[in-house]
Amino acid sequence: MSSAMFFVQQCPTCGRRLRVCVEYLGKTIQCRHCRGTFVARDPENSPSRSDPEGVLMRRVEELLAVGRHA
Ligand SMILES: [Zn+2]
Repeated sequence: MSSAMFFVQQCPTCGRRLRVCVEYLGKTIQCRHCRGTFVARDPENSPSRSDPEGVLMRRVEELLAVGRHA
């Protein structure tokens, strides 16, 4: 039952590191220190980290090059 997962996120308002339950990912949460609100995002699992869009763009360029050849 107690399998709650947490990640650490820095509060953009006061700069403190907060433990945020993964259940709140993508939701607006409130910092308990400064009462500032922000959207919970796990930096470890952020898609921008592995840059999937860059890979996708390269794929598109390859497909376009093949199309021009044919
Ligand atoms: Zn704060």
